[in-house]
Amino acid sequence: MKKHNFYAGPSILPRYTIENTAKAVLDLDGIGLSVMEISHRSKEYIAIIEEAQDLFKELLNIPEGYTVVFLGGGASLQFAMVPFNLMNKKAAYLNTGAWSKKAIKEAKLFGEVDVVASSEDKNFSYIPKGYTIPADADYFHITTNNTIYGTEIHTDLDSPVQLVADMSSDIFSRPVDVSKYAIIYGGAQKNLAPAGVTFVIVKNEVLGKVDREIPTMLNYQTHIDKGSMFNTPPCLPIYAALQTLRWLKNLGGVEAMQKVNQDKAAMLYNEIDRNSLFKSTVQDPADRSLMNICFVMNDGKEDLEKDFLEMVTSRGMVGLKGHRSVGGFRASTYNALPVDSVKTLVETMQEFETLKK
Ligand SMILES: *Cc1c(COP(=O)(O)O)cnc(C)c1O
Repeated sequence: MKKHNFYAGPSILPRYTIENTAKAVLDLDGIGLSVMEISHRSKEYIAIIEEAQDLFKELLNIPEGYTVVFLGGGASLQFAMVPFNLMNKKAAYLNTGAWSKKAIKEAKLFGEVDVVASSEDKNFSYIPKGYTIPADADYFHITTNNTIYGTEIHTDLDSPVQLVADMSSDIFSRPVDVSKYAIIYGGAQKNLAPAGVTFVIVKNEVLGKVDREIPTMLNYQTHIDKGSMFNTPPCLPIYAALQTLRWLKNLGGVEAMQKVNQDKAAMLYNEIDRNSLFKSTVQDPADRSLMNICFVMNDGKEDLEKDFLEMVTSRGMVGLKGHRSVGGFRASTYNALPVDSVKTLVETMQEFETLKK
């Protein structure tokens, strides 16, 4: 049966990425060797990592003065690397969910953390507004897409201090004004590649301004100086990321992708709002994620949750069970998810309503 993959991460990748990576695992461009068994310093591999860095810059329109590095350790290691490299005294954080909280916890090891606002009072079901960012903070950290709770900051915020953003789950889903950010980072396993590589876009001039000693591997400067080759980079996931970047470029880049993402999300949110059996967990449409769409059974219909999960499963839809801290359902509609999968889900919701009403 055809599967519709709604997993939140690791998650669906373009067929193009999977097929080309599978081919290169067997034989990279006819050189008689697997991409997994060549030196990261071979001319073949250097061409791969350089093209991946170049496409990052091209697709996100990254200005001069920034470097793209590929690291290990996941987005979670960045929670510590960011303050290690950037925080002198104080940093500001917006608390919009579990990932923000983990970032805040690490930052507290390095200095004063000013949590300017939080949406924890309502189980992170909205994006806080109307807060003040202290002008003396070294940076302001945000999580642009809250993978677990289905909220998203859709614009590049105006801030008196430079922004740092965890974009693990919405990178390449829309155009970004990179010039507003000191650092953008994320694990690749949501919208880009298999797990194992972390991308970091660093504004070169923000580094070198803290007094503390930074261990070599945790210092961004090390990786910038060595073109992500200080030690062995995650070679295979970077190869897969390159395929996704080529796929995205062929599709028309992030502007074209954004349009598709908006259409897919609108289709599903419209059905959630219309269907009497379901309700969205994010009230304000402006805060609703285009990548992770959370919904629950409507009031009084809670006992139908299991039936619906069984129905979608029987039709080949996987990964729709909501995160335990929200419950209900979460449809992750990343770049690679076909419109057809969203249509299948919407049709199933409509049929379910007819059956159960
Ligand atoms: C998945 C996710 C993380 C964690 O990423 P790891 O690579 O597993 O450390 C962090 N932030 C956000 C927004 C995520 O979606």
